[in-house]
Amino acid sequence: MADLRAARGVPCLLVRGGTVFAPEPLGRVDILCVFGRIAALGPDLAQPPPPFACEVVDARGRYVLPGLVDGHVHILGGGGEGGPATRAPEVTATALLSAGVTTVVGLLGFDGVMRSLASLLAKARALAAEGVAAWIYTGSYQIPPATITGDVERDIALVGEVVGVGEVAIADARASQADPADVVRLAARARIGGLLAGKPGLLHLHVGDAPSGLRRLRAAVAASDLPAAQFYPTHVNRRRPLLHEAAAFAREGAPLDVTAACRPELGEPEAVPPEEALPLLLREGVDPARLTLSSDGNGSLPVFDAAGRVVEVGVGSLRVLWESLQKAVRAGLPLATALAFATRNPARILGLPRKGAIEPGADADLLVVSPELEIERVVVAGRIWDPAAPQAWEERPEARPAIRSARAPFGQTAW
Ligand SMILES: [Zn+2]
Repeated sequence: MADLRAARGVPCLLVRGGTVFAPEPLGRVDILCVFGRIAALGPDLAQPPPPFACEVVDARGRYVLPGLVDGHVHILGGGGEGGPATRAPEVTATALLSAGVTTVVGLLGFDGVMRSLASLLAKARALAAEGVAAWIYTGSYQIPPATITGDVERDIALVGEVVGVGEVAIADARASQADPADVVRLAARARIGGLLAGKPGLLHLHVGDAPSGLRRLRAAVAASDLPAAQFYPTHVNRRRPLLHEAAAFAREGAPLDVTAACRPELGEPEAVPPEEALPLLLREGVDPARLTLSSDGNGSLPVFDAAGRVVEVGVGSLRVLWESLQKAVRAGLPLATALAFATRNPARILGLPRKGAIEPGADADLLVVSPELEIERVVVAGRIWDPAAPQAWEERPEARPAIRSARAPFGQTAW
């Protein structure tokens, strides 16, 4: 047994006795994780024999949930609407994990000039090296879009991390004011790239607060040969009329993303908060599988005056995603229903393999949550992430050596 790795055994984690939501309710079952994946689910699972070195988490009296999949985060920092001093900062793996987010999809947003997709891709890879699974969108607010290879189709087809194009802005004074037919043509290119790569290749649309909402786009989609399912609008809860219009679009087949940060107390007086917006969409006959909830974390929250000048800029929080789920459940939405909006649904809609569900073969990304819905533990890739002991995490034999060597001289990563 000269091999240290063999001496320490095969990495294994057994989560015992928790009430599991996968996100559908599974009751009290144990979860056995081996090599970062869920190997088995069932009552009273036995500890595997050596060489499996099994760590045991006692989850009795707790909920065990999939790690959150946050499908809309400005991982490089968003904003800049008020000049360079208003650029929001980059996210850290620590900030994501402590918000319960184990999978993230990053995007550029408003600034496709001073921030590049190459940097976004590098940031996603840095997060992945630190334990947070990360994908990105190519493009930014603008049309024609920013790209990595010079072409949206090629970005989606050739770059594994690219899930689609977005967030492309419509109905917003910060958008390119493109002809809706150009927006549809962009979606067609994303679809082609997606078909070539075996990805959904969606067009993720930032819908701004202009009264036109989704009206022009829906007319252009109806006049095209593309299915509504190719368009994935976000921020649909920023105004009540937009929410109703989005419900109609979803009934035609479009997936919809509700923004957790769109709420009156966060500077959007007309917003319908998720705990109200999601039940409203369900009452309006939207298929629950088409609904997602994302944070818009680290985006800027600019406040404009009547003349369109920026008077204030805030930075979006990542925790707002979990807080919105808490509020939705406390407002009466079943936990399994609410949870699917930020776990299984975004993983399925965006085509993220092995994410957003607790099932054999899935990545072992889990949250252990108190009965009061406070996150107590985060398990990522089958290991317990302990914010109080980042060192212990890194010293594990399986820890990626790249983290240690990159951290030492710069010390910029928070863990
Ligand atoms: Zn946006």
